[in-house]
Amino acid sequence: MILTGNIGFPTIGPHRELKTVVEGVWRGEKNSDEMIKETEELLLMRTTLQREKAIDFIPCGDFSLYDRMLDLAISFNCIPKRFKDIKENLYFSLARGTKNIPPLKMVKWFNTNYHYIVPEIEKNQNLELKESAVLKDFLFLKKEGFSCIPAIIGPFTFLKLSNIEEPLTVLAEKIIPLYSSLLEKLKEAGAEWISLEEPALVLDITEQEIKTVKKMYEKIKHSKSIILQTYFEDISFYNEIIKLPVGGIGLDVINGKENINNLMKYFPKDKLLSLGVINGRNVWKANIKKTVDIVKKIIEKTNPSMCILQPSTSLMFVPWSLEEEKSMPSETKQLLAFAVEKLDELSIIKKAIVEGKIEQDEIGFAGIKKENIKNRIINLKESNFQRSLPYKERRKKQQRILNLPLFPTTTIGSFPQDKILRKTRKMYKDNLITEEEYKSFIRKKIAHVIGIQEGLGLDVFVHGEFERSDMVEYFGERLEGMISTENGWVLSYGTRCIRPPVIFGDIERTKSLTKEEIVFAQSLTEKPVKGMLTGAVTILNWSFSREDITRYEIAYQLALALRDEIKELEENGIKIIQVDEPAFREGLPLKKERREEYLSWATKAFRLATSAVKAETQIHTHMCYSEFGDIIEAIDALDADVISIEATRSKGEIIHAFENSNYEREIGFGVYDIHSPRIPSQDEMLKIANRALRILKKEQIWINPDCGLKTRNWKEIIPSLRNLVQVASTLRES
Ligand code: GLN
Ligand code: ZN
Repeated sequence: MILTGNIGFPTIGPHRELKTVVEGVWRGEKNSDEMIKETEELLLMRTTLQREKAIDFIPCGDFSLYDRMLDLAISFNCIPKRFKDIKENLYFSLARGTKNIPPLKMVKWFNTNYHYIVPEIEKNQNLELKESAVLKDFLFLKKEGFSCIPAIIGPFTFLKLSNIEEPLTVLAEKIIPLYSSLLEKLKEAGAEWISLEEPALVLDITEQEIKTVKKMYEKIKHSKSIILQTYFEDISFYNEIIKLPVGGIGLDVINGKENINNLMKYFPKDKLLSLGVINGRNVWKANIKKTVDIVKKIIEKTNPSMCILQPSTSLMFVPWSLEEEKSMPSETKQLLAFAVEKLDELSIIKKAIVEGKIEQDEIGFAGIKKENIKNRIINLKESNFQRSLPYKERRKKQQRILNLPLFPTTTIGSFPQDKILRKTRKMYKDNLITEEEYKSFIRKKIAHVIGIQEGLGLDVFVHGEFERSDMVEYFGERLEGMISTENGWVLSYGTRCIRPPVIFGDIERTKSLTKEEIVFAQSLTEKPVKGMLTGAVTILNWSFSREDITRYEIAYQLALALRDEIKELEENGIKIIQVDEPAFREGLPLKKERREEYLSWATKAFRLATSAVKAETQIHTHMCYSEFGDIIEAIDALDADVISIEATRSKGEIIHAFENSNYEREIGFGVYDIHSPRIPSQDEMLKIANRALRILKKEQIWINPDCGLKTRNWKEIIPSLRNLVQVASTLRES
């Protein structure tokens, strides 16, 4: 029997309805009854839609008001002690913090740009099954006439991704009875199958860990009703996993080529097989014929009792529907499939297999290819990746020109973007004001922040990034070969969504991207203003990219565009250029064996972009996350002159990572946590700087916030930056 299924659907709604509801509650404009009513409507709408698309196995429990890991943590009573007195709004307090209680940490979900909430399981935590969001949704949908497949993050993944104070093996014993009771309740409520998602099984796991997995699944009740769902890549320990006493196994055959090889060798006949055959991580239409061929081969070989055709991952990583893309050229649109359209593809594939006929024409990638770009890459030489002088010699020259004090102060790029700015930008986009009116508005904003930075006494200035709604989208709109969407929102964390551009052809820079604003800013001050660009690797990782050429080729194309831009900035008198790479680490493959290759081309792409400048020009980069330890060598290999990174939230651990690395370049450890509305005291910033001073020379240290100030307001920023400048002068005096 061949059926269609789904792993997860976007939670935000076709027009970010979830954001409106939840943020309405945060602002006190909606009460919880309204929230329940409106989210139920959304839940119903997305479930109905999947039924209309003839999906047989429709999930529930893939929905959340903030995050599913958080939902699960709460249902197991994993509430850290510091929240024990919080009675009201506990859920959102855990996610966002309250008064003086810091929130749970937020970390990237595998290699995606979605951030999950990290549960904290404290020692001797009283774990018990409380109210479960999945059960609630299941019952609600049942009442509405649906028989859904409850989808829950599985016990191994839950523990592996949590912050735990007891060994995993110990917690495994404690958590399994809770899962058993939850499954029991779902069965009682009428669930036939239950999907337990174990994406952690695609990581490099140890022998010990797979033993624990086995133990857990041998003990869990109702295991025959479980579909063990995996995604993102090949599973490690295939032979062990397919033998687990569960009823079905889900495998990604889009990003899991080894999974296919393994399936062709053996799959147990008595198990249900879920095949991830449609790419849940990208927006291209599926090649139906190719997919049908692969599925047929697998089915012939494995002959499973039941086969479910599903997306390779949850569809939460792609936008809702193409229907809203009113102004996208039809040549591009016809190549794409968002979540809704991907559901159609599943039915088309099922039909093709069951009835033996393919209704869709063969489509291949038809993006624009440019000979000149291709040739430029073919003709690259080693020297194109290298700066003219080694770092130490460059440093002397740069010092002579820039003449910066010890502990130079700077910010990371953006300054607050307020309602008026967003409104003005929208008016410009809707042709309600002229280009000149818009530009003059932006110039006023730039002049304003230059004045503010003068007043504060910072050493290296920025222009504020007011012309950019988003650091990737802005470049996507200006480079040939990329297109942005109108409504292609994808969840990044909580209620925050981003709109990744689509790379559909060879990338070419046909006009300058940033010169006008930077050069204008520089004309207003004697202090150096940093040119501000988003790096090639970050643009690539935060876009939907074409699949007909390798990722490294796309990265090089982007790098060449940036290289020309950087050169032009330099020719126009800009002495410092910052190339942001906050998504550099995110592209790191999940399995260690594939990492070296990625790091090698990713660092080369950075160098290709930044190495054409004179030795005197200072190249900065910025990254903002705390897990740095395993990529320090790659960071050094970027050959940037200065790097600024996050250091407050990781409580200085990051500084520690540099301890044994002999790092000689200049670093700005972010001393001001911009993700919090708090105003940091001089004392706490000084502490971080002093910790850095224990490991690095004073000549190496910059003083700066840990990211851009876009989301903060002036009331917070001014006193914080005043403190920051004061910290630098205190350090200079001592
Ligand atoms: N220059 C960008 C800004 O200041 C960097 C943002 C980021 O690292 N995510 O907003
Ligand atoms: Zn940042």
